[in-house]
Amino acid sequence: MRCPSCGNLESKVVDSRPSEDGTAIRRRRECLDCGRRFTTYERLGENPLIVIKADGSSEAYDRQKLMRGLLIACGKRPVSPEQIASLVDSIETELRNASCNEIRSKELGDMVLVRLAKLDDVAYVRFASVYKDFQNVEEFAAALEGLR
Ligand SMILES: [Zn+2]
Repeated sequence: MRCPSCGNLESKVVDSRPSEDGTAIRRRRECLDCGRRFTTYERLGENPLIVIKADGSSEAYDRQKLMRGLLIACGKRPVSPEQIASLVDSIETELRNASCNEIRSKELGDMVLVRLAKLDDVAYVRFASVYKDFQNVEEFAAALEGLR
């Protein structure tokens, strides 16, 4: 996303929410160079991303569920919600660029782990140690919520 002020391509997501009609994601971004805040609208694809679980069943990808699991794994760690949103953004961008319409939950988990390793060791270990025993991020999130 190019900054409208200085043209810099690096921005962070400050806030994400569905647009009023639910057909797009409205994102508030902040330029990492000049600090200008701007809004982007990202249309939801005609083919939503499908997550295939280990047992073969599938469900629509849910950004909020993934965010929730990550927020829990990063609990009391020096990782901001903005960093987590950026991590999820980067996964979504990679999948979109690959024109990927479905992904196995394990692959999705691995994509999270690669990025989490760069952010925080403890959050990485939490996510990795619990995630590998579960079929999907939702089960993982539920398990972590139970631990709190
Ligand atoms: Zn800028």
